[in-house]
Amino acid sequence: MTSERNAHTSDRMELDGNAAAGDFSNIFANDVTTVTIHCDGCGAEQLFAQARVYLGGPGTVLRCRGCDAILARLARTPRGTWLDLSGSRTWMFTAPV
Ligand SMILES: [Zn+2]
Repeated sequence: MTSERNAHTSDRMELDGNAAAGDFSNIFANDVTTVTIHCDGCGAEQLFAQARVYLGGPGTVLRCRGCDAILARLARTPRGTWLDLSGSRTWMFTAPV
């Protein structure tokens, strides 16, 4: 795996995060209600607007309608805003982005 990984990355020019900042900023500036989220727990796909949402804790929690796994967590602290998407495989934004 390591040699495959090195071969893969050596074919491409490596830049720092500033090179992708525009693309990512555009995505997160869009309406997320129509984003299709792929659950990492059960594989179900659902629109953001269809996920179960829990407010009022230390942060906002999105849970899968299929298996109740956590899809995403958002928490605001004095240090900054924390976004955890580890419970979801992908987020698909419909065009235009
Ligand atoms: Zn699920």
